[in-house]
Amino acid sequence: MSEPDCLVTDEAERMVRTKTLQSCRLSVRVAVSGLRGEVTFHASLREFTSLRIGGPAEALVIPEDVEDLGKLVRQAYAAQVPLFVLGGTNLLVRDGGLLGIVVSLSKFSMIQDESRHVVYAEGGVRMPVLVRHAISRSLSGLEWAAGIPGTVGGSVVMNAGTRLGEMKDSLQAIRLVDLQGQERVHTASSIAFSYRHADIPKGVVVGAWLNLVAAPRTQIERTTKDYLRYRKNTQPLTRPNAGSVFKNPGPQTAGQLIEEAGLKGTRIGDAQISEKHANFIVNLGQARATDVQLLIQTIQQTVFQQTGVSLDPEITIVGES
Ligand SMILES: Cc1cc2nc3c(=O)[nH]c(=O)nc-3n(C[C@H](O)[C@H](O)[C@H](O)COP(=O)(O)OP(=O)(O)OC[C@H]3O[C@@H](n4cnc5c(N)ncnc54)[C@H](O)[C@@H]3O)c2cc1C
Repeated sequence: MSEPDCLVTDEAERMVRTKTLQSCRLSVRVAVSGLRGEVTFHASLREFTSLRIGGPAEALVIPEDVEDLGKLVRQAYAAQVPLFVLGGTNLLVRDGGLLGIVVSLSKFSMIQDESRHVVYAEGGVRMPVLVRHAISRSLSGLEWAAGIPGTVGGSVVMNAGTRLGEMKDSLQAIRLVDLQGQERVHTASSIAFSYRHADIPKGVVVGAWLNLVAAPRTQIERTTKDYLRYRKNTQPLTRPNAGSVFKNPGPQTAGQLIEEAGLKGTRIGDAQISEKHANFIVNLGQARATDVQLLIQTIQQTVFQQTGVSLDPEITIVGES
């Protein structure tokens, strides 16, 4: 299972996990003191995830701006409190919730044209909004991202992509708030990208420059619409889900392997392997994270027994059981 990179050292995280709940709560309160943004204690993360599953965050913070975020990162680091940044669309939060602080960049929503072909988008911008902006400027290069609901920050970190393209293809540079709360710019050429992964220095991605290509608007619109139609026909978009559960191992897709294993429609509690696309798990109503995890294990065991292929989760699984 994939574990998130916390913004504190492993040792610090271990210390936080073994602290008494009370002193941990005290540290969280110190870490969020004096912020200008919104702070909600014991916030349900269900509403912040596309799967509509997840226990609470000790504190959910929506920083006002980069300066506020920098202050939060510095204070959290000093208080040894883990920070986790969330867009929420490729995520399974366990039922026990997340220790420490969860950060949403929902106020980082600005898009700016930097030059004829270069667009700067803040880390909290949702990919569909960025795709629409590119269309409005007759800029091609992001059509692959049509229908991907994640944020720009999450899509950089995950190197989100489809068979049509990936984030790395048009990424020029990123702006990051590092562990000292300082802003840094990293060029894309200094970052190693792989399938659904980017080797980014620890910190929060607060913005990205995308290098796009001028093209006729009608052509970009047509490609985008075709792709959205394809998604609607093949993916269970009417039910809460977190996109593809497993990475494609190749040469067969994860969906093909799961379907051939006869697992489509398998249900545990209110979590179900989609009838429409076997690499999606949907929440039929009141699914718990444990239901989803059991389904993930069932898929991994069955596919391995039948084919010898180990499926590696694409979704990030975080939190306490
Ligand atoms: C219907 C549907 C279809 C999808 N289709 C695709 C697809 O075709 N291709 C694809 O690649 N994905 C797809 N996804 C998954 C998802 O939208 C992408 O992976 C997206 O890039 C994740 O972005 P997020 O902001 O939701 O990040 P999250 O899922 O919340 O987080 C992913 C990881 O990134 C980290 N992170 C998030 N934001 C930041 C930040 N600003 N700074 C530092 N770290 C950060 C998190 O801590 C976590 O470790 C789909 C999801 C859904 C629900």
